[in-house]
Amino acid sequence: MLYLGVIGYPIKHSVSPAMHNAALQHEGIEGIYLAFEVKPDRLRDAVFGAKALGFRGLNVTIPFKESVVEFVELEGEAAKIKTVNTIDLVEMVGYNTDVYGVKAALSGTELGGKTALVVGAGGAGKAAALALLDMGSTVIVANRTEEKGREAVEMLRRYGECIFWPLSRVEELKGKVDVVVNATPLGMRGFKAEIPVPPSMLDGVELVFDTVYNPMETPLIREAKRRGCKVVYGIEMLVHQGAKAFEIWTGIEPDVEVMKEAALRALRF
Ligand code: NAP
Repeated sequence: MLYLGVIGYPIKHSVSPAMHNAALQHEGIEGIYLAFEVKPDRLRDAVFGAKALGFRGLNVTIPFKESVVEFVELEGEAAKIKTVNTIDLVEMVGYNTDVYGVKAALSGTELGGKTALVVGAGGAGKAAALALLDMGSTVIVANRTEEKGREAVEMLRRYGECIFWPLSRVEELKGKVDVVVNATPLGMRGFKAEIPVPPSMLDGVELVFDTVYNPMETPLIREAKRRGCKVVYGIEMLVHQGAKAFEIWTGIEPDVEVMKEAALRALRF
């Protein structure tokens, strides 16, 4: 029996169990993926407790992606941005499959030589910025809290051309960016129905990617469509980061469409 799960706080609305259980069933693997709400001061107990119980792996979500790094050895992208979303509990190795998720989501657009604005410098922001740098873009990270944004850029600039820009002055970038990425919770269900940049900034932007996936049609996606931008939905990143985590734990490349259908079904409830 394969035991998998996700830890976060809160975790109630996670669609990862639906997505992974559908993949387990589709691949004929006897296993289960469960969501666990873990109080922030019990993170260590949760990780080592799951290992002791024989869990094969865990996904890690808000607010633990950065704090969990002290319990695992960091691999590849996780080491580059000190952010983990997937743990192999047998080897105690932490991975970041969000970066892969972003690359897969954006794979339909040539990003070499483009200038991308990433709003947000948390786990999703750093993953999106690293993916875009790897794809050859120049990246501008705009963040509400300047110190956190600058810290992220300090880490990211080793991997390409990356600069910090204060979110309060983002309007000055109007006409200067080809890609806009929202990596803040703005637009998420239960959060402010706002968009992270002044709407007129989207004029002339080639591609808008919203990492927020609930709802699918976020205020940013709606505005971007209205202004003729190509859009990429957060669900694409979600499904591909999940598929890569599944592959790390099982050695099997799952059917992404099966995972996407399950995620969409779960999001409708
Ligand atoms: P996080 O580490 O908590 O970072 C949140 C970021 O959003 C920070 O940069 C924060 O700025 C900024 N922010 C929060 N509230 C804001 C506001 N009212 N105005 C402007 N900026 C604000 O969270 P995360 O893990 O990066 O996740 C961020 C979002 O990404 C989530 O809400 C989720 O929807 C999405 N996400 C999607 C996927 C996917 O697979 N599609 C995966 C992960 C996350 P400060 O530094 O100033 O606090």
